[in-house]
Amino acid sequence: MLIVQKYGGTSVGSFDRIRNVAGRIKSLREDGHQVAVVVSAMGGVTDKLVTMARELCDEPPEREMDVLLSTGEQQSIALVTMALRQLGVEAVSITGRQAGMKTSGSHTRARIEAIDPTLSRRYLGEGKVVIVAGFQGVNEEGLIQTLGRGGSDLSAIAFASSVRADLCQVLTDVDGVYTADPRVVRDARKLPEISYDELLELASVGTKVMQSRSVEFAKKYGVKFEVRSSLNNNPGTIVTEEHEAMEAVVIRGVSIERSQARVTITGIPDEPGMSALILGVLGEAEINIDMIISNTAHDGYARHSFTMHTNDLGRVQAALKPVLSDLGGEANLESEAGIAKLSVVGIGMRSHSGVAAQMFKALGEGGINIGMISTSEIKISVTVEEARIEDAARVVHSAFGLDTAPA
Ligand code: ASP
Ligand code: MG
Repeated sequence: MLIVQKYGGTSVGSFDRIRNVAGRIKSLREDGHQVAVVVSAMGGVTDKLVTMARELCDEPPEREMDVLLSTGEQQSIALVTMALRQLGVEAVSITGRQAGMKTSGSHTRARIEAIDPTLSRRYLGEGKVVIVAGFQGVNEEGLIQTLGRGGSDLSAIAFASSVRADLCQVLTDVDGVYTADPRVVRDARKLPEISYDELLELASVGTKVMQSRSVEFAKKYGVKFEVRSSLNNNPGTIVTEEHEAMEAVVIRGVSIERSQARVTITGIPDEPGMSALILGVLGEAEINIDMIISNTAHDGYARHSFTMHTNDLGRVQAALKPVLSDLGGEANLESEAGIAKLSVVGIGMRSHSGVAAQMFKALGEGGINIGMISTSEIKISVTVEEARIEDAARVVHSAFGLDTAPA
């Protein structure tokens, strides 16, 4: 088999960890597999490079940031390769350019356009392990570009697709994707598999396993991959296209997002263009808002509520202040901090009815009050008082049988 693995910064974060990675690669070779490995910079190195840049320059040019940040991966590929050589494994390191990673778009947040795997294939054919620098590529002009923070996930998925790997494994410091955060829900279980869309929805509500862009890429090109731990040999979670059997499970997972705030504007004239006015101002201020709820007008006035991270509350209030007077005398803004968001995600929702009712019932029986509600095709989110969010996650997790569901 041709196996592509990716090791993140934590997994290569020390000499011991690098030796551990080298040992794992060695045993794959001994089992007769061809192996290519995409690595990140050693943990903390990229951050340190960013700090160095800021010491010398208030706004470091992005072109130079790319030249600088790409050095982190260049160190780790050489070190991992040396550790492999020390174990007697034939290995070579290759940079993004040598791996044929062609990028386009802006510096520090480039896209992968294409990959030319010629050199990688040649080395693999010679029986060498190929250690590839993640996070970097070169554009048409031959300039170094990086893919945005956390971008080695994307490098790995794209690389696996270009060499038509039989298996792509993303090795990290978590064991896989869980039904809930095990620190919050003690009975959370590791999922044997999850669909791209479910992982994307869970990521959007706070379950940080991988950079979302790389999951989107995997979905687009049909790259099946496994998320597993670099510190043990337990099977991880397979991330793949959805298939029929997946729909039998109503809810795949529960996710929470803390430190949320709500703003409600009342007394909005019931006229075209009002929502655009309000949201436009927030867009211009580059503030991300999350759940948006507006009710039908009565007495000629409408109201809008939306949520955001508590850190953005001050900016939202400031940005909306001038708008309030434009809206006229009745407009008023109230806000509330100290809330959190609970979401349940699962493609099974499409074919099961009553999922929302089941969730609300569990929360009601748990004495947990629901604030706002929003839904998408495969997700239901509610806000609750932040102090109750962990209880909320536990009751919902067990109401959907996630503590006990068979693998
Ligand atoms: N080293 C880069 C970062 O820290 C890329 C990565 O780790 O995926 O963002
Ligand atoms: Mg990383």
